[in-house]
Amino acid sequence: MTAQTINGKETAALIKERLKEEIAILARDGVVPGLTVILVGEDPASQVYVRNKARECEKLGMASEVIRLPETASEQELLRLIGELNRNERVHGILVQLPLPGHISEKAVIDAISVEKDVDGFHPVNVGNLLIGGEGYLPCTPAGVIELIKRTGIAIAGRHAVVVGRSNIVGKPVSLLLLRENATVTICHSRTANMEDITRQADILVVAVGKAKMIGARHVKPGAVVIDVGVNRLEDGTLAGDVDFDEVKEIAGHITPVPGGVGPMTIAMLLSNTLESARKFASVKH
Ligand code: NDP
Repeated sequence: MTAQTINGKETAALIKERLKEEIAILARDGVVPGLTVILVGEDPASQVYVRNKARECEKLGMASEVIRLPETASEQELLRLIGELNRNERVHGILVQLPLPGHISEKAVIDAISVEKDVDGFHPVNVGNLLIGGEGYLPCTPAGVIELIKRTGIAIAGRHAVVVGRSNIVGKPVSLLLLRENATVTICHSRTANMEDITRQADILVVAVGKAKMIGARHVKPGAVVIDVGVNRLEDGTLAGDVDFDEVKEIAGHITPVPGGVGPMTIAMLLSNTLESARKFASVKH
Protein backbone atom coordinates (compact mmCIF):
# COMPACT_ATOMS: atom_id res chain seq x y z
CA MET A 1 0.00 0.00 0.00
CA THR A 2 1.25 3.48 -0.77
CA ALA A 3 0.01 6.37 1.34
CA GLN A 4 -2.00 9.24 -0.04
CA THR A 5 0.16 12.37 0.02
CA ILE A 6 -1.55 15.29 1.75
CA ASN A 7 -0.92 18.38 -0.35
CA GLY A 8 -0.47 21.30 2.05
CA LYS A 9 0.46 23.68 -0.72
CA GLU A 10 -2.84 23.14 -2.53
CA THR A 11 -4.90 23.35 0.65
CA ALA A 12 -3.10 26.55 1.69
CA ALA A 13 -3.72 28.02 -1.77
CA LEU A 14 -7.47 27.39 -1.39
CA ILE A 15 -7.48 29.09 2.02
CA LYS A 16 -5.52 32.07 0.67
CA GLU A 17 -7.93 32.48 -2.26
CA ARG A 18 -10.78 32.85 0.21
CA LEU A 19 -8.76 35.23 2.38
CA LYS A 20 -8.00 37.38 -0.66
CA GLU A 21 -11.71 37.79 -1.37
CA GLU A 22 -12.43 38.67 2.25
CA ILE A 23 -9.56 41.18 2.32
CA ALA A 24 -10.95 42.85 -0.81
CA ILE A 25 -14.36 43.18 0.89
CA LEU A 26 -12.76 44.74 3.98
CA ALA A 27 -10.77 47.12 1.78
CA ARG A 28 -14.06 48.59 0.50
CA ASP A 29 -14.60 49.81 4.08
CA GLY A 30 -11.14 51.38 3.96
CA VAL A 31 -9.49 48.74 6.17
CA VAL A 32 -6.28 47.11 4.95
CA PRO A 33 -5.02 44.34 7.26
CA GLY A 34 -1.44 45.11 8.25
CA LEU A 35 1.23 42.71 9.48
CA THR A 36 4.58 43.91 10.81
CA VAL A 37 7.39 41.41 11.15
CA ILE A 38 10.44 42.24 13.26
CA LEU A 39 13.68 40.47 12.46
CA VAL A 40 16.67 40.85 14.77
CA GLY A 41 20.02 39.77 13.35
CA GLU A 42 21.03 37.94 10.20
CA ASP A 43 19.94 34.31 10.71
CA PRO A 44 19.68 33.01 7.10
CA ALA A 45 16.67 30.72 7.70
CA SER A 46 14.81 33.56 9.46
CA GLN A 47 15.56 35.91 6.54
CA VAL A 48 13.86 33.44 4.17
CA TYR A 49 10.83 32.95 6.45
CA VAL A 50 10.37 36.71 6.90
CA ARG A 51 10.65 37.38 3.17
CA ASN A 52 8.06 34.68 2.42
CA LYS A 53 5.62 36.05 4.98
CA ALA A 54 5.89 39.58 3.57
CA ARG A 55 5.50 38.36 -0.01
CA GLU A 56 2.40 36.31 0.81
CA CYS A 57 0.81 39.31 2.59
CA GLU A 58 1.30 41.49 -0.44
CA LYS A 59 -0.11 38.88 -2.81
CA LEU A 60 -3.34 38.87 -0.81
CA GLY A 61 -3.68 42.66 -0.64
CA MET A 62 -2.48 43.06 2.96
CA ALA A 63 -0.02 45.71 4.05
CA SER A 64 3.22 44.24 5.28
CA GLU A 65 6.31 45.76 6.76
CA VAL A 66 9.55 44.06 7.76
CA ILE A 67 11.58 45.92 10.39
CA ARG A 68 15.17 44.72 10.56
CA LEU A 69 17.21 45.38 13.67
CA PRO A 70 20.93 44.60 13.97
CA GLU A 71 22.12 41.59 15.99
CA THR A 72 23.41 44.10 18.57
CA ALA A 73 20.00 45.73 19.16
CA SER A 74 19.15 45.88 22.87
CA GLU A 75 16.08 44.36 24.52
CA GLN A 76 14.96 47.89 25.49
CA GLU A 77 15.12 49.01 21.87
CA LEU A 78 13.02 46.05 20.75
CA LEU A 79 10.48 46.57 23.56
CA ARG A 80 10.18 50.25 22.64
CA LEU A 81 9.51 49.34 19.01
CA ILE A 82 6.84 46.81 20.03
CA GLY A 83 5.21 49.50 22.19
CA GLU A 84 5.00 51.81 19.18
CA LEU A 85 3.52 49.06 16.99
CA ASN A 86 0.98 48.19 19.70
CA ARG A 87 -0.28 51.79 19.45
CA ASN A 88 -0.19 51.99 15.65
CA GLU A 89 -3.74 51.65 14.28
CA ARG A 90 -2.56 50.47 10.87
CA VAL A 91 -0.79 47.48 12.39
CA HIS A 92 -3.11 44.55 13.16
CA GLY A 93 -0.53 41.84 13.61
CA ILE A 94 2.95 41.91 15.16
CA LEU A 95 5.30 39.01 14.74
CA VAL A 96 8.80 38.84 16.17
CA GLN A 97 10.78 36.23 14.26
CA LEU A 98 12.36 33.70 16.60
CA PRO A 99 15.01 32.78 17.61
CA LEU A 100 16.25 36.06 19.08
CA PRO A 101 19.90 36.75 19.92
CA GLY A 102 20.88 35.35 23.33
CA HIS A 103 21.00 38.72 25.14
CA ILE A 104 17.28 39.35 24.49
CA SER A 105 14.63 37.58 26.60
CA GLU A 106 12.08 35.91 24.30
CA LYS A 107 9.59 35.86 27.14
CA ALA A 108 9.89 39.61 27.78
CA VAL A 109 9.42 40.29 24.07
CA ILE A 110 6.41 38.01 23.60
CA ASP A 111 4.80 39.37 26.79
CA ALA A 112 5.16 42.91 25.40
CA ILE A 113 3.13 42.25 22.25
CA SER A 114 -0.49 43.32 22.62
CA VAL A 115 -2.69 40.21 23.06
CA GLU A 116 -4.97 41.57 20.32
CA LYS A 117 -2.08 41.81 17.84
CA ASP A 118 -0.36 38.55 18.78
CA VAL A 119 -1.18 36.79 15.49
CA ASP A 120 1.48 34.15 16.21
CA GLY A 121 -0.55 33.06 19.24
CA PHE A 122 2.48 32.91 21.56
CA HIS A 123 1.39 35.44 24.19
CA PRO A 124 0.65 33.74 27.55
CA VAL A 125 -2.95 35.00 27.46
CA ASN A 126 -3.53 33.40 24.05
CA VAL A 127 -1.75 30.23 25.21
CA GLY A 128 -3.97 30.19 28.33
CA ASN A 129 -7.10 30.59 26.21
CA LEU A 130 -5.99 27.68 24.09
CA LEU A 131 -5.67 25.58 27.25
CA ILE A 132 -9.09 26.48 28.66
CA GLY A 133 -10.91 26.61 25.32
CA GLY A 134 -11.37 30.40 25.35
CA GLU A 135 -11.31 32.88 22.46
CA GLY A 136 -7.87 33.83 21.21
CA TYR A 137 -5.37 33.49 18.41
CA LEU A 138 -4.22 29.94 17.80
CA PRO A 139 -0.53 29.40 17.08
CA CYS A 140 -0.11 29.11 13.32
CA THR A 141 1.70 25.80 12.83
CA PRO A 142 -0.51 23.77 15.21
CA ALA A 143 -3.66 25.39 13.77
CA GLY A 144 -2.35 24.59 10.28
CA VAL A 145 -1.88 20.93 11.22
CA ILE A 146 -5.48 20.61 12.42
CA GLU A 147 -6.88 22.46 9.41
CA LEU A 148 -4.89 20.23 7.06
CA ILE A 149 -6.15 17.03 8.72
CA LYS A 150 -9.76 18.25 8.68
CA ARG A 151 -9.70 19.51 5.10
CA THR A 152 -8.32 16.17 3.98
CA GLY A 153 -11.54 14.67 5.35
CA ILE A 154 -9.85 12.75 8.16
CA ALA A 155 -11.86 12.28 11.35
CA ILE A 156 -10.03 13.22 14.57
CA ALA A 157 -12.63 12.54 17.28
CA GLY A 158 -12.15 9.27 19.11
CA ARG A 159 -8.85 8.48 17.41
CA HIS A 160 -5.53 7.98 19.17
CA ALA A 161 -3.22 10.88 18.27
CA VAL A 162 0.45 10.62 19.22
CA VAL A 163 2.54 13.81 19.12
CA VAL A 164 6.32 13.52 19.12
CA GLY A 165 7.79 16.75 20.54
CA ARG A 166 6.61 18.99 23.39
CA SER A 167 7.85 22.46 22.46
CA ASN A 168 5.78 25.51 23.36
CA ILE A 169 5.38 26.48 19.72
CA VAL A 170 4.44 23.13 18.17
CA GLY A 171 4.26 19.97 20.31
CA LYS A 172 2.25 21.24 23.29
CA PRO A 173 -0.25 23.41 21.39
CA VAL A 174 -0.89 20.81 18.69
CA SER A 175 -1.57 18.26 21.46
CA LEU A 176 -4.11 20.62 23.04
CA LEU A 177 -5.80 21.25 19.71
CA LEU A 178 -6.06 17.52 19.02
CA LEU A 179 -7.58 17.12 22.49
CA ARG A 180 -10.02 19.93 21.69
CA GLU A 181 -11.00 17.92 18.59
CA ASN A 182 -11.72 14.96 20.90
CA ALA A 183 -8.74 12.80 20.04
CA THR A 184 -7.12 10.70 22.76
CA VAL A 185 -3.67 12.27 22.93
CA THR A 186 -0.28 10.89 23.95
CA ILE A 187 2.82 13.11 23.94
CA CYS A 188 6.33 11.70 23.40
CA HIS A 189 9.60 13.55 23.97
CA SER A 190 13.33 12.97 24.35
CA ARG A 191 12.88 11.10 27.66
CA THR A 192 10.10 8.79 26.44
CA ALA A 193 10.99 5.12 26.85
CA ASN A 194 10.21 2.63 24.08
CA MET A 195 8.84 5.34 21.82
CA GLU A 196 8.26 2.98 18.89
CA ASP A 197 5.75 0.99 20.95
CA ILE A 198 3.78 4.19 21.53
CA THR A 199 3.97 5.73 18.06
CA ARG A 200 2.90 2.39 16.56
CA GLN A 201 -0.43 2.79 18.39
CA ALA A 202 -1.17 6.11 16.69
CA ASP A 203 -4.06 6.55 14.30
CA ILE A 204 -2.72 10.08 13.80
CA LEU A 205 1.02 10.68 14.31
CA VAL A 206 2.27 14.28 14.44
CA VAL A 207 6.04 14.69 14.51
CA ALA A 208 7.78 17.94 15.54
CA VAL A 209 11.30 17.14 16.67
CA GLY A 210 13.82 18.74 14.32
CA LYS A 211 15.81 15.58 13.48
CA ALA A 212 15.91 14.59 9.83
CA LYS A 213 14.16 11.32 8.99
CA MET A 214 14.12 10.04 12.59
CA ILE A 215 10.67 8.45 12.19
CA GLY A 216 10.81 5.33 10.05
CA ALA A 217 8.38 2.59 9.04
CA ARG A 218 9.04 0.80 12.35
CA HIS A 219 7.36 3.71 14.20
CA VAL A 220 4.14 3.65 12.18
CA LYS A 221 0.96 1.58 12.30
CA PRO A 222 -0.26 0.47 8.86
CA GLY A 223 -2.80 2.98 7.54
CA ALA A 224 -1.93 5.75 10.04
CA VAL A 225 -2.10 9.46 9.22
CA VAL A 226 1.43 10.91 9.49
CA ILE A 227 1.89 14.67 9.78
CA ASP A 228 5.51 15.83 9.54
CA VAL A 229 6.17 19.29 11.00
CA GLY A 230 9.97 19.02 10.89
CA VAL A 231 12.06 21.13 8.55
CA ASN A 232 15.71 20.08 8.37
CA ARG A 233 18.38 21.25 5.95
CA LEU A 234 20.47 18.30 4.74
CA GLU A 235 24.16 18.53 3.84
CA ASP A 236 23.33 18.59 0.11
CA GLY A 237 21.18 21.70 0.71
CA THR A 238 17.81 19.98 0.27
CA LEU A 239 15.05 19.99 2.89
CA ALA A 240 13.85 16.91 4.76
CA GLY A 241 11.22 16.37 7.40
CA ASP A 242 11.50 14.43 10.65
CA VAL A 243 9.85 11.49 8.89
CA ASP A 244 11.61 9.25 6.39
CA PHE A 245 9.04 9.95 3.68
CA ASP A 246 10.07 7.21 1.22
CA GLU A 247 10.01 4.51 3.89
CA VAL A 248 6.88 5.63 5.74
CA LYS A 249 4.75 6.25 2.65
CA GLU A 250 4.83 2.49 2.04
CA ILE A 251 3.01 1.82 5.31
CA ALA A 252 1.01 4.96 6.24
CA GLY A 253 -2.50 5.75 4.99
CA HIS A 254 -1.84 9.48 4.59
CA ILE A 255 1.41 11.43 4.83
CA THR A 256 2.51 15.05 4.46
CA PRO A 257 5.61 15.83 2.39
CA VAL A 258 8.40 18.26 3.31
CA PRO A 259 8.41 20.75 1.74
CA GLY A 260 4.80 21.29 0.67
CA GLY A 261 3.00 19.91 3.72
CA VAL A 262 2.64 21.78 7.00
CA GLY A 263 4.87 24.76 6.03
CA PRO A 264 2.46 26.47 3.60
CA MET A 265 -0.40 25.96 6.09
CA THR A 266 1.54 27.87 8.76
CA ILE A 267 1.67 30.98 6.57
CA ALA A 268 -2.01 30.63 5.60
CA MET A 269 -2.97 30.55 9.30
CA LEU A 270 -0.82 33.62 10.01
CA LEU A 271 -2.60 35.55 7.26
CA SER A 272 -5.95 34.32 8.53
CA ASN A 273 -5.16 35.52 12.08
CA THR A 274 -4.06 38.92 10.75
CA LEU A 275 -7.32 39.31 8.80
CA GLU A 276 -9.30 38.33 11.90
CA SER A 277 -7.45 40.97 13.91
CA ALA A 278 -8.11 43.65 11.28
CA ARG A 279 -11.79 42.74 11.32
CA LYS A 280 -11.94 43.05 15.10
CA PHE A 281 -10.20 46.43 15.03
CA ALA A 282 -12.57 47.62 12.28
CA SER A 283 -15.67 46.56 14.23
CA VAL A 284 -14.40 48.32 17.37
CA LYS A 285 -13.81 51.54 15.42
CA HIS A 286 -17.19 51.57 13.67
P1 NDP B 1 12.20 22.14 19.60
O1 NDP B 1 13.65 21.87 19.41
O2 NDP B 1 11.77 23.32 20.39
O3 NDP B 1 11.51 20.84 20.24
C1 NDP B 1 11.83 19.56 19.81
C2 NDP B 1 11.07 18.55 20.63
O4 NDP B 1 11.46 17.26 20.17
C3 NDP B 1 11.38 18.60 22.12
O5 NDP B 1 10.19 18.52 22.86
C4 NDP B 1 12.26 17.38 22.36
O6 NDP B 1 12.06 16.76 23.61
C5 NDP B 1 11.79 16.44 21.29
N1 NDP B 1 12.83 15.48 20.92
C6 NDP B 1 14.12 15.72 20.64
N2 NDP B 1 14.77 14.57 20.36
C7 NDP B 1 13.86 13.59 20.47
C8 NDP B 1 13.91 12.19 20.33
N3 NDP B 1 15.04 11.56 19.97
N4 NDP B 1 12.78 11.48 20.53
C9 NDP B 1 11.63 12.10 20.87
N5 NDP B 1 11.52 13.42 21.03
C10 NDP B 1 12.63 14.16 20.84
O7 NDP B 1 11.61 22.17 18.13
P2 NDP B 1 10.26 22.87 17.56
O8 NDP B 1 9.07 22.25 18.18
O9 NDP B 1 10.41 24.33 17.56
O10 NDP B 1 10.36 22.40 16.03
C11 NDP B 1 10.32 21.05 15.65
C12 NDP B 1 10.54 20.96 14.15
O11 NDP B 1 9.47 21.60 13.49
C13 NDP B 1 11.81 21.64 13.64
O12 NDP B 1 12.33 20.89 12.57
C14 NDP B 1 11.33 22.98 13.15
O13 NDP B 1 12.15 23.51 12.13
C15 NDP B 1 9.99 22.58 12.59
N6 NDP B 1 9.02 23.68 12.51
C16 NDP B 1 8.31 23.80 11.35
C17 NDP B 1 7.36 24.78 11.21
C18 NDP B 1 6.60 24.84 9.95
O14 NDP B 1 5.95 25.84 9.68
N7 NDP B 1 6.61 23.80 9.13
C19 NDP B 1 7.12 25.76 12.27
C20 NDP B 1 7.84 25.50 13.49
C21 NDP B 1 8.77 24.50 13.59
P3 NDP B 1 12.46 17.45 25.03
O15 NDP B 1 11.37 18.44 25.29
O16 NDP B 1 12.47 16.32 25.96
O17 NDP B 1 13.80 18.10 24.80
